[in-house]
Amino acid sequence: MKNNATAVIIGGGVIGAAVAYELATRGMKDIILLEKSTLFSGATARCGAGVRQQWGTEMNLRLSIGSVKRYETLSEELDYKHGIEFSQSGYFMPAYTEKQIEQFQKNLELQRKFGLDVHFLKPNECRSVVPIVSLDGLLGATYYDKDGYLSPFHTTAAYAEAAKRKGVDIELYTEVIGFDVNDQKITRVQTNKGYIDCDYVVNAAGGWSQEIAKMAGVSLPLVSERHQILITEPIEPLFRPMVMSFYHGFYTQQEPNGAIIMGVGDPNEPKGYNMEHSFHFLHNVTKLVTQVLPAVGKARVLRQWSGLYNLSPDRTPILGTPSEINNMYLTVGFSGHGFMIAPMVATLTAQMITNEELLIPEVETKLDIGRFQRGELFVEPSVV
Ligand SMILES: Cc1cc2nc3c(=O)[nH]c(=O)nc-3n(C[C@H](O)[C@H](O)[C@H](O)COP(=O)(O)OP(=O)(O)OC[C@H]3O[C@@H](n4cnc5c(N)ncnc54)[C@H](O)[C@@H]3O)c2cc1C
Repeated sequence: MKNNATAVIIGGGVIGAAVAYELATRGMKDIILLEKSTLFSGATARCGAGVRQQWGTEMNLRLSIGSVKRYETLSEELDYKHGIEFSQSGYFMPAYTEKQIEQFQKNLELQRKFGLDVHFLKPNECRSVVPIVSLDGLLGATYYDKDGYLSPFHTTAAYAEAAKRKGVDIELYTEVIGFDVNDQKITRVQTNKGYIDCDYVVNAAGGWSQEIAKMAGVSLPLVSERHQILITEPIEPLFRPMVMSFYHGFYTQQEPNGAIIMGVGDPNEPKGYNMEHSFHFLHNVTKLVTQVLPAVGKARVLRQWSGLYNLSPDRTPILGTPSEINNMYLTVGFSGHGFMIAPMVATLTAQMITNEELLIPEVETKLDIGRFQRGELFVEPSVV
């Protein structure tokens, strides 16, 4: 391993790999990406892979629309022969209360201002999109056919391979264990395999990002929380879009081979790093999903697993540098939607580091860490 770098990126998930690519694309030399295990061994490979643009704030609309635009041509841009498997098979979001209907209508107005042709479906129209949806209690739904999903494995591999071709060193099984700090700057990254002197550090360590920050004396308002997910054996095609119910808290999707994935959060989940999985989850998610999509009940569960959400107080990412250390760039706190906005987050982070004009200048005042001290929490109405 080299002992000198311009930038050290910590974390080999989709965010770290994408930041490495974006920095290298801007001509930066001597970039080293450090991953304590294998590429995408964190939340990235464990995620639901969903990509939606149906958000209720301008910021999240900009982040997700910009990312989808990139995802549409990313295989070609990164010259990735396997393809990243981006399928725009839609997101269907059912509503069960008048309050949800009101919120969805508001979101839809904003989404249309951004050029998204999102549809509001009355209950009797919902089966034209999801033929197996139960009409019990259903008051309507929004549907956007340009939302979808893509492979987290291929996407991360595509970014990482393109970054490598541009000269980035990727060091696997290399764990960051500390920093040397001088005059509010990290001067040296300490790892289990030696040290690296550097100018910039990117903290893209997902569920462990608060631990990384702590090593530099920075206290981030982040916690990590287990989220579980399962996949069934393949069955005949039943539905195509991702079905995401804010009311029940679940998301589910049938993959092209017929397997169905589903996940739900647990309001009583203790914060921490537990990645075991539980019978309680299996019982709960199958009960909720079959209330809305009864035909899914015939599928047999194949496997379940879990990963970490990294949560900020407002469930919205933190980007930029903390006041204590001015060369540690944070790309943290993505909750359950870091994969879908990775291209924009990586671009913005690279723009910050290289002092370019930001594609979304408001990021500096709305997604900065200072917002928590100022009491200006970011309120996104459509987040699970
Ligand atoms: C069950 C589940 C479902 C989800 N569904 C979706 C979804 O449908 N759509 C969506 O957009 N998002 C979803 N997410 C969220 C998404 O997975 C994350 O926001 C995203 O993958 C974060 O990427 P990352 O690169 O920041 O983190 P990670 O992928 O977690 O990568 C961080 C990496 O840092 C490494 N690391 C940690 N500490 C160190 C260290 N000391 N030294 C070196 N390396 C270190 C880790 O090993 C890890 O590989 C889901 C998450 C979960 C858990």
